[in-house]
Amino acid sequence: MNLSLELIEENIRKLLVDNSDAVELHSLGLSAEGRNINAVYITDKKVPLGEKEVAVIMGLRHGDEAGVVPAVSSLLDWLVSENGTETRRKQLVIVIPVVNPDGFVKQEFGAPRDRISDDESKIMLPLILKSQADMVLDIHSLERGDLEAVITGHTEHLGEDDLIHGLAACRMMEGAAVAGYPYVIHALGVQSLAPWLSTPRPSNYDTPSYNNWVCAPAYEQLHSLVMGMEVNDFYLNEDDCGKSGLAAIIPLLELGNTRSSWEFSSGYPNRIIRGNMLVSLRAAGKSTAVRRESRMEIWQKRDFFTDPIRMLPSQNRIKAKVEYSGEPLSSAFSVCCRIRGNPAISGVSLNGIKTDCYSATDNCSTFVFVDVPPAVAGTYEVSIDF
Ligand SMILES: [Zn+2]
Repeated sequence: MNLSLELIEENIRKLLVDNSDAVELHSLGLSAEGRNINAVYITDKKVPLGEKEVAVIMGLRHGDEAGVVPAVSSLLDWLVSENGTETRRKQLVIVIPVVNPDGFVKQEFGAPRDRISDDESKIMLPLILKSQADMVLDIHSLERGDLEAVITGHTEHLGEDDLIHGLAACRMMEGAAVAGYPYVIHALGVQSLAPWLSTPRPSNYDTPSYNNWVCAPAYEQLHSLVMGMEVNDFYLNEDDCGKSGLAAIIPLLELGNTRSSWEFSSGYPNRIIRGNMLVSLRAAGKSTAVRRESRMEIWQKRDFFTDPIRMLPSQNRIKAKVEYSGEPLSSAFSVCCRIRGNPAISGVSLNGIKTDCYSATDNCSTFVFVDVPPAVAGTYEVSIDF
């Protein structure tokens, strides 16, 4: 493989020249050794940003993982191609091909194994927070064995995050399988160790297996959908690393283009903050940008909410209750109840006062959403008749 930083930069400049209507190049700052860290912004500029999902995709946090180079290169080519049209229209995709140029030019791993690096804290974290990423993907490559993996397990197990991250991982695995690449879903033991939550590691834990350190603050602060993946450059050649990486990434990007069955709006399905599929506390808002603000605020204040409770006083009435004990909110939130079948809704109230709702259906049930305007501390009880 040609592992020259100059060649990668030249290819990006060519991408920019050939697709100036969709591509922008932004310098994020300099690495510790003074090398430029570039981000490629790809989107349909005719569609307002406030209507789009934001995806941040990182490559080469670990400098010696050669297979990442073709994986990122195929992704960039796909994003500007005809096949990437819908993704460009519905998302801003920010690709950082070389997060760690110092490690890359020396062909060294070049990053701490047990924490986020200084360059990542200084450069990647502000980018992710400023862009308010809805999805974050960290691409790696193994130089041993034949394993290719989707890495999940960055969640706090709140709401339905384990299910939703698992489902995204499944889609990636299935997409890769169709293209002929046998990925596994690899939680890397992080579920029990939760190293990103400052849980002390056991003293004999000298081979930490969790390494998606930038995903952790993205999830913790923004409730981004955070995924990692490994292509394999020991077993696969350059061409295959590119094809395999792309085959796994496309289904993840498509998740941001479509409506998941339990959501009212399309986009990455990470708006359930607490509760479960039957009753949940969710982000609210008419546009992507407003829903994103709501998601982040409700998530950051998640500990001030109780898990919503769902009651069924009769076969035609559902009640749901959630308590909030924090400072006044600036965003609305939504209480969502899932009802069997697709009955007509005859009335909805919030704390005894008639209110509006909206709903989404799948083939066995109806999700009814009741928005609570920016709230102060108190109890919020929703009643739905059908
Ligand atoms: Zn790695």
